[in-house]
Amino acid sequence: AQRPAQRGWDGVGRTADGHPVKALANIGSATDAAAAAAAGAEGVGLFRTEFCFLAATSEPGVEAQRAAYAEALAPFAGKPVVVRTLDAGADKPLPFLSATDEPNPALGVRGIRVAFDRPEIVDRQLEAIAGAAADTGAEVSVMAPMVATADEAAWFARRARAAGITRAGVMIEVPAAALSAAEVLDAVDFVSIGTNDLAQYTFAADRMLGALAQLNDPWQPALLRLVELVARAGRERGKPVGVCGEAAADGLLAGVLAGLGVTSLSMVTAALGAVGASLAEHSMATCEQAARTAVATAEPAQARQAARDVLHR
Ligand code: PEP
Ligand code: MG
Repeated sequence: AQRPAQRGWDGVGRTADGHPVKALANIGSATDAAAAAAAGAEGVGLFRTEFCFLAATSEPGVEAQRAAYAEALAPFAGKPVVVRTLDAGADKPLPFLSATDEPNPALGVRGIRVAFDRPEIVDRQLEAIAGAAADTGAEVSVMAPMVATADEAAWFARRARAAGITRAGVMIEVPAAALSAAEVLDAVDFVSIGTNDLAQYTFAADRMLGALAQLNDPWQPALLRLVELVARAGRERGKPVGVCGEAAADGLLAGVLAGLGVTSLSMVTAALGAVGASLAEHSMATCEQAARTAVATAEPAQARQAARDVLHR
């Protein structure tokens, strides 16, 4: 069968009038990396390193980590790869890292918070990532998950630079970080919005509960307004603002996110063709108009319809 949605995708993400919006892949393993490279991903916007060690009962040593990361980075020599430091906790517990006695694991010591008491864990990981970058020639950046404040972002960036990694960023997935986007961006080189957790924490709605799926809909105008705020802060500073949550895999929403000022979209590999083709169909001015109308609505169905009215005209 024909797949008309894939027309116009030549492997480079950009709008119809040539504004670059990188189409990147989310990976969690070397297998994912090979598939993403074969599908023509421009790079990797999110390497979830915790997926490499879900079964590990003790912390993998620096050399073991380096080998695992190098295997995933190898297909992306000369291309950008954002390696996220371990995001253990809540829906992805790691036996060697996660506390088991927290009443609210999603609000607990997870993501970068694990490292504040045990900085040697993130330092060893950063050393392994720097080694894997040297082994493979991938253009590696590092990114911390679950950052809430500009102070935490600066703490992470200092440690990344001490490990010899020149590009450090953070996820924007806690509402406080989105509301402090300007200060957070001043502390790092880039940010990437994790819409899955940002929705969960903005709406106080567990992302694992099907019953609350409506609140976790990435078309929620309140979520889009936070994306807008972060993208504006990035634009003012000339720093990249990506989206790496499931929102980035929605072809219609991709146009809205580009219009809000997002500079890269990172998604499951299977979505690359459709999202790339969708971006290529619209000018940036049209995307901006779709974004303006979607953000001004009161609920997800209206936001979708508003974007459709502009983009499918
Ligand atoms: C997110 O929260 O949107 C994200 C990309 O990270 P994860 O899904 O791994 O929590
Ligand atoms: Mg997340």
